[in-house]
Amino acid sequence: MEKLLLSELSRVYGSLLSELLEKLRRPPRRLYLRVNTLKTTRERVISMLSEEGIETYPDEEVDDAIFLEVKGPFNIECNTDKKIIVDDKTAISLLMGANLYRPGIRKWVAFEKGDRVLVVTGDNTPVACVETTTSHYHAINSEKGLVGVNIQSPYRAPSIAETKAYLKGLIYPQSLPSIITSHVLNPKPGELIIDMNASPGGKTSHVVQLSIGRTRVIAIDRSEGKVKALKSTLDWLGLNLNVLALPMDSRYIHLDLNLQNKADKILIDPPCSNLGVRPIIAFNRTMRDIINLSNYQRQFLKAAYHVLKPGGILVYSTCTITMLENEENILYAVNELKYNTVEPDYAPPYAEKISYKGITGYRFSPLSHDLPGYFIAVLSK
Ligand code: SAH
Repeated sequence: MEKLLLSELSRVYGSLLSELLEKLRRPPRRLYLRVNTLKTTRERVISMLSEEGIETYPDEEVDDAIFLEVKGPFNIECNTDKKIIVDDKTAISLLMGANLYRPGIRKWVAFEKGDRVLVVTGDNTPVACVETTTSHYHAINSEKGLVGVNIQSPYRAPSIAETKAYLKGLIYPQSLPSIITSHVLNPKPGELIIDMNASPGGKTSHVVQLSIGRTRVIAIDRSEGKVKALKSTLDWLGLNLNVLALPMDSRYIHLDLNLQNKADKILIDPPCSNLGVRPIIAFNRTMRDIINLSNYQRQFLKAAYHVLKPGGILVYSTCTITMLENEENILYAVNELKYNTVEPDYAPPYAEKISYKGITGYRFSPLSHDLPGYFIAVLSK
């Protein structure tokens, strides 16, 4: 990892930095799902999944969260000299036990159907051993489709994609801190809530779920494609209730929509450096990226100030661990934009409450509860 970025991270983690990097390379041992409590109960979903051979467990603190256990790490012994290189996103899913599909492949060697092939990242880290289901010739000439079945990977989690509960929209894969974020927002019937970075709709749909469809939600994302993905999540979960989904640049919401002082609550879940999302297989972010992201994130906080009601609540969350994107942005919101940080009604479980130069925030750490790195702050105007 770049030196400058390492020193940014050591502002938070100090002497625990190398332990942190080690944790970031591994997935958390629990993989979380949110239960769609508008359609079912947690107990029913757990037994439905169990009937299909998948064991899940209720979270001890969060009443609509369940988790699967991730097994590993295992060694990969593929006994082959054939290698396929995949992109980093595909590498992560293979590392967790998923099969190999055509789109993630970057470089290959010749293979026949039924061959063993080692799948590696661009920098040659092995992520899985697969048995091919097609020949190299066929795969190269198609745009999608299965290429190999994963027979060995460092980690394994049961796949829920084919289960009834998933297909019926009764569960939604989401990290525990993300699930906690909407509880912190605590939507109430009748409120007007603006989700400024809504797609693919994990938190928007949770807001609808928690208010039984009785909040008015304006859910924004930057493009038509993103809004389409958001709507399809809401439709799949049966939670497209009172949501106005808009494709626009929410940094200009105060100029483009007539909403001055109108919102009871706002959620800002902006693009971030994702350094808390585990596992990370390549640390290729630079300090320049972090600075740019931090400046970008501030623009949402600034625009939101105009549309939030006096006394309204804003929840800011990121799945990263740099101070520039978290604490420093909240400090900016308080010092430059005149928000205050406040205590939420729902104190986030598993988070460490932090104070920094007079502001408060909540930090989820890979070190304390084996969670993703994540940050939440609650502001009021
Ligand atoms: N809250 C979402 C995840 C949001 S990820 C969930 O829980 O599912 C961050 C999102 O911010 C991305 O979808 C990205 O497209 C969106 N985004 C980035 N810049 C934006 C802008 N200027 N205006 C609105 N949305 C933006």
